[in-house]
Amino acid sequence: MKNLKLAIQKKGRLSDKSIQLLRNCGLDIENFQDRLIVSAANFNLDILFLRDDDIPEYVQDNVAHIGIVGENEVLEKGLDVEVVKQLGFGRCSLSLGIPEKSKINSVNDLGNKTIATSYPNILKNYLQENNVKAKVIELSGSVEIAPSLGVADYICDLVSTGNTLKLNKLKKSFKVLDSQAVLIKSKIMDDDPELKILFDKLLGRIGSSLKAKKSKYIMMNIPKNSLARIIEIIPSLKSPTILPLSDKNLLAVHAVISEDKFWEINEDLKMAGASGILSLPIENIIL
Ligand code: ATP
Ligand code: MG
Repeated sequence: MKNLKLAIQKKGRLSDKSIQLLRNCGLDIENFQDRLIVSAANFNLDILFLRDDDIPEYVQDNVAHIGIVGENEVLEKGLDVEVVKQLGFGRCSLSLGIPEKSKINSVNDLGNKTIATSYPNILKNYLQENNVKAKVIELSGSVEIAPSLGVADYICDLVSTGNTLKLNKLKKSFKVLDSQAVLIKSKIMDDDPELKILFDKLLGRIGSSLKAKKSKYIMMNIPKNSLARIIEIIPSLKSPTILPLSDKNLLAVHAVISEDKFWEINEDLKMAGASGILSLPIENIIL
């Protein structure tokens, strides 16, 4: 049987989380330090470690059948790959950075200015969509020093905390794009039935793992007579499990809920008489 080839970032912001995601899918990946290609011990998968900029092209050319890369790189390269799934990590935004003392209110204030960026295509598209004419200078790194060197008025760069901007006496202005890591796939990969089977299997596991991460298993004890009220409160994935307890007046209720609902319903549960409320992480959910 053939191996599915997956490209991930060799060293950088997406590397650890990409490997973690694969491990959460049950893949056994060992000793990948300083290696360019590693095979999973228990799945027909080869992992290729590459620079993130190169991943869309490798996938377009079907050298790697699939890849994990920032949406920003996919959009910037504009290559012919299919974005299959957003993966919920590597979140950042491509934003305008302007000198601390400057003030701009909208995209129109960029007219006739010079903007340095590593994402010239995304920025030019954005300017064009907004009918603004500005000069875009492409720099491959250290974009944030361009204004102090007098090379550009503003910059357009990836930001998460804004600390790098601050160090360079810049501040964040408006956002051009939100980005996160995505799973991409070559458009000709599924022509091969063997690869398609492997891909579908991996995608199913990734889906289960992402769903599990967003969910919690909750358990609590309740007075028997508040069961109806408690069931109303719990936004359960399926119907909750009800178990008898040795105290005949009490029941135990178990349910899977989405993580963000936990704190929301906690107070209501307590008001309805629930006690000993526990929340546990879930490794996988197979629906
Ligand atoms: P490579 O050597 O692989 O080319 P790089 O320096 O281009 O690495 P990183 O800085 O590791 O790339 O960022 C990889 C991706 O992580 C970015 O393309 C983006 O999608 C995502 N990311 C998340 N947060 C940030 C951030 N604060 N700054 C930059 N990128 C971020
Ligand atoms: Mg890069």
